[in-house]
Amino acid sequence: MVYYSLYHKAPNVNFAEAAVRGQAPDKGLYFPESIPVLPKEVISNLHQYSREELGFMVMKPYVGDCIPDDVLQTIVSETIQFNFPLVKVTSDIYALELFHGPTLAFKDVGARFMSRCLGYFNRHAYHHTTVLVATSGDTGGAVANGFLGVDGVEVIILYPSGKVSPIQELQLTTCGQNITAIEVQGNFDDCQAIVKQAFMDADLNAKLSLTSANSINVARWLPQQLYYFFAYQQWQHQQAPVICVPSGNFGNICAGLVAHLSGLPVHHFVAACNTNDTVPQFLQTGNYEAKPAIATISNAMDVGNPSNFVRIMELFKQQLPDLQKVLSSYSISDEITAQTIKKVFEEEHYMLDPHGAVAYYALEQYMKTHDGGKGIFLETAHPVKFPETVEEATNTKIPFPESVQHLIGKEKISVVMDASFNTFKSWLLSR
Ligand SMILES: *Cc1c(COP(=O)(O)O)cnc(C)c1O
Repeated sequence: MVYYSLYHKAPNVNFAEAAVRGQAPDKGLYFPESIPVLPKEVISNLHQYSREELGFMVMKPYVGDCIPDDVLQTIVSETIQFNFPLVKVTSDIYALELFHGPTLAFKDVGARFMSRCLGYFNRHAYHHTTVLVATSGDTGGAVANGFLGVDGVEVIILYPSGKVSPIQELQLTTCGQNITAIEVQGNFDDCQAIVKQAFMDADLNAKLSLTSANSINVARWLPQQLYYFFAYQQWQHQQAPVICVPSGNFGNICAGLVAHLSGLPVHHFVAACNTNDTVPQFLQTGNYEAKPAIATISNAMDVGNPSNFVRIMELFKQQLPDLQKVLSSYSISDEITAQTIKKVFEEEHYMLDPHGAVAYYALEQYMKTHDGGKGIFLETAHPVKFPETVEEATNTKIPFPESVQHLIGKEKISVVMDASFNTFKSWLLSR
C-alpha cells in the first residue's frame, strides 16, 4: 500500500515509513492510496473466520510487504488477545464492549498493533525511536502498556496533573522500563502544545527520531477497523446495524467508515459528541469551525478540532452530501449523559461509562427519528475509569476489575514539570 500526505507536499511512502514518521514531513496526515475491498463471499461468511484470520485479512493490504506474513499474524493475534463481546442492552440496542483490554479502553488495540509494528521495524535497533504522546487519560495508559519492554523504543507521556482519574494515573506512572510519565502542571491542551512544538523543533529532530502515538499514526488508526468486523461477526439480524461511535478525534469512527467502504454492511453511522460540537454543526450547516476544547465528563472526547476529520472528508472526496448519506452526528450535554447513565442502569441494569452514555443517547435519538432498525453503540471504556461520575449517577460502588487489581498500592513515578516547552526540551536533551 502506498500512503500519501493529505497536504500533497511530501513524497509517498510505504506502511513502514508512515508508521515510523507518524506525520508526513509537510505536517499532513498519511492516507492510503486506495481502500481494499474484501470479496463478497468473505463478507457474507464472516462468522466462519477466526478473529485472527479476519484481522490478518483486513490488515494485510495496508501493511503490504513491510512485514512478513508470519510476523504480521503474530502481531495481529497478540493485538487482539481479549474479547470484544456484543451485549444486548434493550430489544433494539446492543453494546460492543471494547474495554476488555489491559488498560480498559478501546485504545489498547491501536496501541498494541502500533507498538509491535515499531518494534519490528526497529528490530536491529539501528536507531532508537522516541514516541511522544499527550494524553487526557486513556491514550497514555494504552500506549504505556502497549510499548512496555519494546526494544529500541522509548515512550514519553505527558499528562495534565490532577486531571486524570486515579486508575488512569497509575496506568501511566507505574510501568517503569522504557516508559516515562511527565506530569505537566497545566491542562491537556498544554500537554498537546508541548508535543506539537517538539515535533516542529529543529534541535530535537536533529538529535532524536521522534514519532507520535496519537491516532494520526496509521499504525494506530487502521487496526481499529477490526472492531467493526468483530461486531458484524456477532450480528444475528437480517438488516445491517446502525453503528454509533463516541467520537473525539474521530479516528475510531473514521476506521469504521473505512471498514464500510471495504464492504462491511452498516445501515448508517452516528458520531456521538459531547458539548464539543464542531462536527455535528458542520454536518448541519456545512460550516467547519474549529473551537477551543470544552471540558466535559466524557473527557476523552474533549476535542474542538478533531484531527482525523480531514481523513473522513478525503474518504468521501470532499463531498459533504455523500458523507451526510452515511453519517449523522449529535451533540449531547453532560446533564443528559449523567441522566442516561442513571436511566440505563435502573431500567436495563447495564452500567455505561460517560463515553458510552453519550453514544447510547445519540443512537436512541437517531433511531427515534429514522426507521433505523436495530443498532450498536461502542462502549469504549470501562466505567471504573470514571468512578466519580458513574458512582454518583448509579448510586453504586464499582468493583475494581481483576485486570487492574495489580495497580492498587503501586508507587507512582512521574517527572513533575511546569507547562513550558523550553523546560521539556532541556529535560529531554539533558538525558
Ligand atoms: C479516545 C476515546 C474516545 C474518542 O475516540 P476518537 O477516536 O478520538 O474519536 C472515546 N471514548 C473513549 C473512552 C476514549 O478513550
